[in-house]
Amino acid sequence: MPKPTFKYLKAASKNPSTTVRIKPNAPRKTVAPPVVTAPIEAPTPVEAVSAETPTFAELGLNENTLRGITELGFEIPTPIQARAIPVLLKGRDIIGQAQTGTGKTAAFGLPLLQLSDSTSNKPQALVLEPTRELAVQVAGGIHELGKYTGLRIVPVYGGQPIDRQFRALSQGAHVVVGTPGRVLDHLRRGSLSLDEVKICVLDEADEMLALGFLEDVESILSEIKGKRQIAFFSATMPPRVAALTKKFQHDPEHIAIDIKRRTVETTSQSYYEVPPGKKLEALARVLDMESPGPTMVFCRTRQDTNDVADALRLRGYNADALNGEMNQSERDRVLRRFREGQSDLLVATDVAARGLDIDTVTHVVNFDIPWDVEQYIHRIGRTGRAGRTGDAITLVEGRERRQLKFIEQMIGAKIRPVRIPTASDIAARRRDQFLASLQEVLAAGTSDAFVETVESLIVDYSAADVAAAALQMLWKSQDIGQFTVEEEIAAGEQPEEGMTRLFIGLGRQDGLRPGDLVGAITNEANISGKSIGAIDILDRTAFVEIPKQDAERVVTALRRTKLRGKKVKIDIASPIDFGRQSQGQ
Ligand code: AMP
Repeated sequence: MPKPTFKYLKAASKNPSTTVRIKPNAPRKTVAPPVVTAPIEAPTPVEAVSAETPTFAELGLNENTLRGITELGFEIPTPIQARAIPVLLKGRDIIGQAQTGTGKTAAFGLPLLQLSDSTSNKPQALVLEPTRELAVQVAGGIHELGKYTGLRIVPVYGGQPIDRQFRALSQGAHVVVGTPGRVLDHLRRGSLSLDEVKICVLDEADEMLALGFLEDVESILSEIKGKRQIAFFSATMPPRVAALTKKFQHDPEHIAIDIKRRTVETTSQSYYEVPPGKKLEALARVLDMESPGPTMVFCRTRQDTNDVADALRLRGYNADALNGEMNQSERDRVLRRFREGQSDLLVATDVAARGLDIDTVTHVVNFDIPWDVEQYIHRIGRTGRAGRTGDAITLVEGRERRQLKFIEQMIGAKIRPVRIPTASDIAARRRDQFLASLQEVLAAGTSDAFVETVESLIVDYSAADVAAAALQMLWKSQDIGQFTVEEEIAAGEQPEEGMTRLFIGLGRQDGLRPGDLVGAITNEANISGKSIGAIDILDRTAFVEIPKQDAERVVTALRRTKLRGKKVKIDIASPIDFGRQSQGQ
């Protein structure tokens, strides 16, 4: 008998643990379908990624800093970098209105690296950060940018043994990145001298003052004498920040990115909040759930496009990277494949995707959040073209949330939060697609030969049993590993904060229903039904989330009891590591 072929469902790989790729054009359904927004007002790209954007070299950066940038895979300056770097290199004071995610670390980091002298052993640049995390992150960022400058970057912050910082400072620190309290501490102890500091950056000035660091900051800035440059970076400009700039800055240049309004129509915008390091897994789930048509995935750096495209291919998707590193013929080949539908996902940097006009793109995914609203508008404008509707999806992790809020404010519209699809959502989606494909075959008319086979079988079996057997064979022949994939995805599910996920060795096929689990947990472990979190019932297993502090007790209680009349395996689910850490911040 010929092996039945199925139009929409196709195994992505022989490996049953691989996520199944569902072919485009399948009927679409989302967890909570993003609504097509009414035309909204959004800014016109004034500083957008445009043909006029200068290169890093044109900003006046020298060979050593340019080498660092190239190695990091940055292709073009972000708007704040394009504006701030030349001004800082000229020695002017600036007020830069920008928040995390706009590329501001490099906007001040590159000039301060270039303005420092590696042959002197004294600190020549000081960066003040409101929190320890930011101090570490920014020091790390500057360190990477300055890899070829021979400069030493030292973070100093509370919570780390001060002795270690004494040592690092005495060995010669060229750039010191610290929290105000710890910087003052070092100044008072004489372990840090600001005599040779030529440039001081007050990063996240608004947050710094909101955290009550005004006095400390004033004391530090007063210590920096002589001809020195002061740069303020702040997302907002409350009066206290403005007063501080007046007191300490000399004729500062105010750099804010101009915004004009324009309309983004026909694109529905949503975002998914992703636990740290889980962007790739989230992307895979969203793709499985949405079954999009041609999709563009935006990343920040060349390296990211390669990493993400590789990881997607490993998971069975047809993905290609597109970045500025590729020569023209590679680029043409990748674009041809995408246009002709041989690849479904184009993982691109902004530069590489500049001006790309492919009408069929149904989805744009911001794997990394855009660094400003202009870039956001430019990216999402790659879909919803030629009168079609499109979906713009942004994956947001940790601090990127602030940036998202800012983008929302600037476009004057809400970007809709959507829950990352669970394993059950995806399984339900696959079943829907399976059914839809069947209905399509039925509508197109079945072959006489098959009808005859059925007629010969219904002498001994019911028509329903014959159909069910055929479907069972078909489902298995698709090699979609329904159970394995479903369970594996479910096992990798991250519990909500403060919750623990329990594995239950019983599922839908055993007649398990949510009520059975809630009943057993509330009765046996004496926990209120309200505190029980998400319940995922799969075919052969189930998962339930319960408050962390009750986890051991619930496991012990459930192991003692029976579920649907059976002793069942109960365990704390250990999440599967789905690999790559996001490159985010
Ligand atoms: P920041 O706003 O400084 O926290 O930067 C946000 C992220 O953008 C960091 O991961 C940087 O490595 C990245 N980034 C900064 N500038 C660029 C650029 N010109 N091109 C690509 N990525 C960048």
